[in-house]
Amino acid sequence: MSKRDYYEVLGIPKGASKDQIKKAYRELALKYHPDRNPDKGAEEKFKEISEAYAVLSDEGKRQQYDQFGHAGFDQRYSQEDIFRNADFSDFSDLFSQFGFGDDIFSAFFGGSRRRRGEYGSDLRAQVEISLEEAAKGAEREIRVRKDELCPKCRGNGAEPGSGFKTCQKCGGRGQVVRTSRMGPMMFRSAAPCDACGGQGKVVEKKCRACEGAGTVAGEEKLSVHIPAGIQDGMQIRLEGEGEEARDGNGDLYVYVRVGPHKIFQRQKNDLYLEIPISFSQAALGAKIDVPTIDGKSAKLEIPSGTQSHTLFRLHGEGMPDVHGGRRGDQLVRVIVQVPKKLSQKQKEMLAQFDEEGGKRNFGFF
Ligand SMILES: [Zn+2]
Ligand SMILES: [Zn+2]
Repeated sequence: MSKRDYYEVLGIPKGASKDQIKKAYRELALKYHPDRNPDKGAEEKFKEISEAYAVLSDEGKRQQYDQFGHAGFDQRYSQEDIFRNADFSDFSDLFSQFGFGDDIFSAFFGGSRRRRGEYGSDLRAQVEISLEEAAKGAEREIRVRKDELCPKCRGNGAEPGSGFKTCQKCGGRGQVVRTSRMGPMMFRSAAPCDACGGQGKVVEKKCRACEGAGTVAGEEKLSVHIPAGIQDGMQIRLEGEGEEARDGNGDLYVYVRVGPHKIFQRQKNDLYLEIPISFSQAALGAKIDVPTIDGKSAKLEIPSGTQSHTLFRLHGEGMPDVHGGRRGDQLVRVIVQVPKKLSQKQKEMLAQFDEEGGKRNFGFF
């Protein structure tokens, strides 16, 4: 079955702000929650809007979806992936009215998720580099604020020396059975217990360093390798460098901006450059030095009789290909400069040039 566009599902424009997305989801969640809406299909609709929200409220996922649409996105993310780390905490008031916590996934998609809340979220960082650095590749140090495993309890949330006891809510089974009604039908589904996160046991005494959370706020310095040829807007995924959690860390996405350059313009892997040349260089021909992105220069041979705005190609002097393909070219457009000031002698020489037939070069007189 083909999926509807997530923006369409929430009834919002493509560039919608976070607040617009939240507002749209809140309104639709109130309308379609199966406990409130007896219509056939309300539950499906509720799942659909929740999935759209899970994706569009997560910057990384939203970007992937915008870039690749459903086709590419659904290939990469299972439904479980979509809901993992999805943040519905802004709606906990709403969901508690509905009789479930903010773990939408287990409420609707059954107990296929092993545990709750013990995977770290993905994080995002941004670095800005110059075009020269993009050509060579670069190393950047970044600081990332993130949740780190509590050093005192190593993430299990228990005060050292204290143990665990059986969870009261689920009796140690780690699952609770939820009953929901859809019209005349009753549904029973098993979901991980939210009191113990599906573990069946809870700590006897909470760790004082993290208050039982298992993680503490921290900051990490990381070195990011930016590959040669990277293009503006690309992102680098650092696996496991996101928020830490006992059962697995999130990833860190480093978004790379390549700043504009004073003289070069990039188009895919080619670089464009305009170079002024004199009238006599154009007329007589010349060999000139042209700056290249590696900070050196290349020789460009201008044949005699070159017209202004002629484009020359220097093979292999463009940007490296980030995927290891062929290096781009440098394209040089020569602009013939007409002198604004002439000495008496130059004026006489040019007048002589005209007398020698320079004028007659224009065939349309
Ligand atoms: Zn702790
Ligand atoms: Zn429990």
